[in-house]
Amino acid sequence: MSGRIFENIRDIYLRVSRAAMKADRDPSGIEVVAVTKTVPPDLVREAVESGLRLLGENRVQEAKAKIPLVEERTPDSRLSWHLIGHLQKNKARDAVRLFDLIHSVDSGELAGELDRQAEKIGKIQRVLVQVKLSGEISKSGVAPEALLPLLTITRTMTHLCVEGLMTIPPLFEDAAAARPYFSQLRMLRDRTEAAGFVLPVLSMGMSHDFEAAIEEGATMVRIGTAIFGERS
Ligand SMILES: *Cc1c(COP(=O)(O)O)cnc(C)c1O
Repeated sequence: MSGRIFENIRDIYLRVSRAAMKADRDPSGIEVVAVTKTVPPDLVREAVESGLRLLGENRVQEAKAKIPLVEERTPDSRLSWHLIGHLQKNKARDAVRLFDLIHSVDSGELAGELDRQAEKIGKIQRVLVQVKLSGEISKSGVAPEALLPLLTITRTMTHLCVEGLMTIPPLFEDAAAARPYFSQLRMLRDRTEAAGFVLPVLSMGMSHDFEAAIEEGATMVRIGTAIFGERS
């Protein structure tokens, strides 16, 4: 297969590997989530045919319509859909049916609702906690000091598995400016692990700053524009 999406993905894998090597990390420890919000199913299919299997959507309604359309076009591929956008409690039921990993848990109530809905269908729902670091413009995410209390609550939730942390730094012209946010998230993770939690996943870094995120410890980068082009 050839074409622009294929070329873009090849370029991203090269850049991921280079950033990993620069930081003395194993490139296989970094997963690329292709962000497919607003991208039509035929273009998503091209990304899958180029080898990507992790696909990120930011809205439950859009994903609900799109997932069957992508899967019927890629019948031989086992895809893993991730929710990367804010989740409202009343969409939790759909979310546990659609997504393997939810990156955006930001309250005990939401965690509890996901746990209840997952139990109903006999699933263990994998999630990340979204953290809002200082100065961040995004409205969702827990404050760093609220992370330990939230994780403590989720300990009793039998159908929820918290695998790590996610953050969205403010958008900077210069990717280097995002770096302190990435290192803050990593340090927060390290302190939290010292308190007895296991949080191997760090979901951070997007098209314009994923190399800085990898150098600071990202294990999952969420990339849209650099794969599919500008969203309309
Ligand atoms: C849209 C989006 C991305 C991807 O952004 P690009 O700049 O297009 O790579 C990543 N993470 C979240 C949460 C998003 O909403």
